[in-house]
Amino acid sequence: MTVTEAADTNAEAGVTTPEAFESEARAFLDANAKKRPVETFVWGQGSDDVSLFPEKTQAEEVADLAVSRAWAQQVFDAGFGWITGPAEYGGRGLSSDYQRIWGRVASEYRTPSQSIYGIGLGMVAPTILAHATDEVKQAYLRKMWRGDIVGCQLFSEPSSGSDLASLQTRAVKDGDEWILNGQKVWTSGAQVSDIGEIICRTDPDLPKHRGLTGFVVDMHAPGVEVRPLRQMTGGASFNEVFFTDVRVPHSHLLGEVNGGWTVALTTLMNERASIGGGGGGVSLPPSARLIEAARSVGRQDDPLIRQQLAEIVINERVAGYTNRRAMAKIAAGQLPGPEMSLGKLSLTANMVRTYELVSSIFGPALVADTGAWGTYAWSQYLMGVPGMRIAGGSDEVMRNILGERVLGLPKEPAPK
Ligand SMILES: Cc1cc2nc3c(=O)[nH]c(=O)nc-3n(C[C@H](O)[C@H](O)[C@H](O)COP(=O)(O)OP(=O)(O)OC[C@H]3O[C@@H](n4cnc5c(N)ncnc54)[C@H](O)[C@@H]3O)c2cc1C
Repeated sequence: MTVTEAADTNAEAGVTTPEAFESEARAFLDANAKKRPVETFVWGQGSDDVSLFPEKTQAEEVADLAVSRAWAQQVFDAGFGWITGPAEYGGRGLSSDYQRIWGRVASEYRTPSQSIYGIGLGMVAPTILAHATDEVKQAYLRKMWRGDIVGCQLFSEPSSGSDLASLQTRAVKDGDEWILNGQKVWTSGAQVSDIGEIICRTDPDLPKHRGLTGFVVDMHAPGVEVRPLRQMTGGASFNEVFFTDVRVPHSHLLGEVNGGWTVALTTLMNERASIGGGGGGVSLPPSARLIEAARSVGRQDDPLIRQQLAEIVINERVAGYTNRRAMAKIAAGQLPGPEMSLGKLSLTANMVRTYELVSSIFGPALVADTGAWGTYAWSQYLMGVPGMRIAGGSDEVMRNILGERVLGLPKEPAPK
């Protein structure tokens, strides 16, 4: 069944027509949010912040979460929080056509950022829906989509990032519970998270991909310790998370015992889709900002600058088409494969082009603060790009995937 047919079926079942849904969405937003004015970028006006990672104090983080949460709850209670989710877990059971309608209409309004929920809703919740027990789905999905709780992804370890399957955090069965010991690292948002999706080693005697198991862990359980890591941009959005004899009920298993690799792949696929698809608030700065940056130093007619600008715009357009191809596959019920890696790689390649362009435009003013609006602020962007090139699978790993699965190049030699 196509998405449009599914929408028709929903409509026939008396759920709501797309037109009625749109009116309902507009009525809710008109009553609860302000329309976003048509914004024209004017150099020197407004904020010059182009940072990729939040640079907040703990107090700011807590205050912002309260605002995000209040909005998420209001949206959910009005029926727009989990539009495509199954009704039994709190969703509205509509097709993704309706989700797109909501996205389009909501983008016309100024509403609080929901980026703190990005990992939980973009990666953890879909994995819970696909692999968790009914008890866990009932316990967490509605709360996650209503913004009551925040979720994080506990995969990477100090010696296991790209080679995730080599991870060493242990889970040992003890009656109806599992006992977790080990360390995770680079856990985005762990400092405000209530639950985490964790992959642990449950059988060290099996080959590395086969001895892993996924769990949902309570981040407030005794034995969970979150320590912030300060990044070079100044903020601390990542953490080390230590697990010492943390008890997890057997019902909180994701998938099968020793079937954790399949669970991890579900999450990673969603992660790449969400980063490459411009989800999680990650996108390129609008080209108007770049053009005005060149104009601000009188270099708008410089042929090299123009060429760099054109390359960014062209590549962004191409990346957009690739992303739409992946989304169309999802809408048609197919699994997008390498498109996700291509989308992620295109985004980060364009980020690199962007900072190379601003480096050409501003030169030393990018690294020495002259106080001029819109110049030194770009240093935050420049320092954030390496993180984007690593998160969700590094550029090199994405190239390996494309080389092997699209170009048919010989596989990397597997470690013995
Ligand atoms: C912004 C950000 C957010 C993150 N958030 C989370 C999170 O919430 N939860 C979580 O679990 N993790 C998170 N991570 C961790 C992330 O998944 C890992 O950093 C990533 O998988 C790379 O692992 P690593 O850091 O151990 O680097 P390594 O795997 O040690 O890689 C080091 C270098 O070697 C290269 N390399 C490695 N293997 C190959 C290969 N086979 N072929 C070619 N080159 C290779 C890499 O490209 C890289 O340049 C985050 C990372 C960042 C930067």
